[in-house]
Order: sequence, then C-alpha cells, then structure tokens
Amino acid sequence: MAKIVIANFKMNKTESETKDYLISFLSKFEDYKAELILALPYTSLSLAKFMLEGRAVAISAQNISEDDEKGATGEISGRMLAGSGASYVIVGHSERRTKFKENNKVINQKIKNGLKNGLSIILCVGESLADRNTMKTLATLKVQIEEALKGLYENELENIIIAYEPVWAIGSGKTPSPKDVELAVKSIRKVIEEDFSPKASEQIRVVYGGSINPKNAQKFASISGINGILVGSASLDPNIFMQIINACV
Ligand code: PEP
Repeated sequence: MAKIVIANFKMNKTESETKDYLISFLSKFEDYKAELILALPYTSLSLAKFMLEGRAVAISAQNISEDDEKGATGEISGRMLAGSGASYVIVGHSERRTKFKENNKVINQKIKNGLKNGLSIILCVGESLADRNTMKTLATLKVQIEEALKGLYENELENIIIAYEPVWAIGSGKTPSPKDVELAVKSIRKVIEEDFSPKASEQIRVVYGGSINPKNAQKFASISGINGILVGSASLDPNIFMQIINACV
C-alpha cells in the first residue's frame, strides 16, 4: 500500500512564499507511489487548489471550527475549508491542545463537523514527556482516541488518519525508538478493535510524526503497522521535503 506523507506547514509561509514553494516542489514532482498531503495555512489554500489542480497531492487545513457558520468571529468552518480546496483537516495537534486549550470533547466536535462537511480528518494523538516518564503513554493514547472518536460510525473511520505524535518529539530533534512506535501503534489499533471491530483496526491508517528528517524518514515510515509519516519543520524546504518523500517510496 502506498505510504502517506503529510507536510504540516504550521504557521509558516505567506501566500507568495507558498507559491514559490509549490513552483519548486512541482518542478521536481514525479508521480509518486505515495499519498501526499500538504497541510497549509488558510491563506494559502485557494492558491494551492489552483496550483495543484490535476496533481496527486491533497490539500489539508490545520484547524476547523467545531460549529457551522454563525456568530463566531475569527473562526473557520468546514464548508469554507472545503470551498477553498481542502479535503483534509488536522485536528487535535498538540500545539492546539496546549496553546489553545482544545480538549478531547472539542476535538470530537471538530472531527464530527469536518466529516459532516466532507473533509477527511488527520487526528493527532500523543503522550507528553510526563506521561512517558510515568509509563502512562498507552493510557493517554486510549483516552485521546476513545474521546475523539466517540459517537462515530465505523464506516467514518475510512476518512480518518491517526497521527501518532509524541508531544516531546515534536520540533525537539528527539524521536522515540522504532520499537516504542510499534508498541504505540499496536495499542492504537487495539483501541480501535475494542471500540469498533477487528476489520476497522486493521484498516485504519496510522502515521508517525515528530522530528522526521531525510535521514530517519525511511526508518519511521517502514515500522510495522505504520502507514506513513507526518513532517513538520522539515517540510518547509521543498528540497528537504522531496528527499523525505523519496526516502519513503
Ligand atoms: C508536527 O508539527 O506535527 C511535527 C511533527 O513537527 P516536527 O516534524 O517539526 O517535529
């Protein structure tokens, strides 16, 4: 099965910087045997929709309101994201959980709202360093997944990618061992099996994210049970991101 490679630009790049990035990216673009998803700032979505027309690259947003359009100044709805070219949205990134105090209940509402508006979801889960140091990694993952996916129908899991991102590995240059990732992914799939079915557990797509670079990309992408990777800062340079993609396919 083709590996998934997701770029998360976070709060980086103006629209014209995204344009330069995509020009460079597309000049080296091949028909990869990978599923590529670019998670861009809102202000770059429409431009990317235009520039990536006909290319096998999906566009993702990085956040969504939990509600549909109404008096919610500064928020962005699923319908707006879909209309601007997004087919995915990241929900539950640790930066939103910590900086914007998004809890599992809000994350659950955002997921439901995204699905309702036809978006696929990249659900980020992961333990903090304190969780890890107190052997609570698997318990944390279980709560995050169960609460985020509460009330969903099994067939909706087709439109969800779970990104396992240990909080302490994001932007730190530190990574877990492949064995630790394998264990975490097994436990993620076990939660899905218990709450949905063995088939859902087998079919749900799970990626790893946290300090991926061209040197370690292949190692993480090929861990048993892992369907791909999510790349933050190393995706901001198109040449480096290309090296990462090439390492995975
Ligand atoms: C992320 O922001 O989701 C991420 C994985 O970042 P980085 O690759 O920079 O650790």
